[in-house]
Amino acid sequence: MTDFAQPMLAAPSRRGLMFVMSSPSGAGKTTLSRRLLEEDGDITLSVSATTRPPRPGETDGKDYYFVSADRFQDMVKGRELLEWATVFGNRYGTPRAPVESALIMGRDVLFDIDWQGTQQLQQTDAANDLVRIFILPPDLDELERRLRARATDPADVIDERMARARDEISHWGEYDYILINDDAETCLAELKAILKAERLRRKRQLGLAGFVRDMLGEGE
Ligand code: 5GP
Repeated sequence: MTDFAQPMLAAPSRRGLMFVMSSPSGAGKTTLSRRLLEEDGDITLSVSATTRPPRPGETDGKDYYFVSADRFQDMVKGRELLEWATVFGNRYGTPRAPVESALIMGRDVLFDIDWQGTQQLQQTDAANDLVRIFILPPDLDELERRLRARATDPADVIDERMARARDEISHWGEYDYILINDDAETCLAELKAILKAERLRRKRQLGLAGFVRDMLGEGE
């Protein structure tokens, strides 16, 4: 029953969170992040800048900002990047401005970055907004099978990717949540559950104190 005597309380607003997903390549992270972006209207992807050339099917400004080495260096010097790292000899970094404006507007931001970038974010003021997820493959054989199934890389590159995968996996202890991706649907449901719970954290709900004060009639 509606109580008309009770004034409507303004629901508290929320500060956006930084949802970081790291994994060795081949653990299925790209598919999971794409699905999450499609199915959750409140989260947007942080589009990184990179010096690596585009792969077939990749679009500038959507998958990455593909930039020259000189431009990347200018971004570093101009403090335009929140974090950056070198991966497979190419440079990757997160443009600062879009992230800061999204968070202020209460939008969540998804980061597909490696352990180096995650560590850097953890050492900044952004640490409070971070939710760090690490996605593991079910086992290394499965990872190698997935890398080979992509079949675009010669064998030596696959060996290099496997070595890098081991290195990436060794950083699992620096993350808040560890998911094992042996079933994409289950893993996606787990990601959504984490996001849902993290959004409800007290520290992210702005104006809660006022909301509760009004509810208890303590404001007058
Ligand atoms: P790929 O070239 O396969 O798209 O990405 C290679 C690796 O670079 C992935 O592990 C990806 O998470 C990481 N990466 C992509 N963008 C960034 C970024 O802006 N910063 C950092 N630190 N790593 C990134």
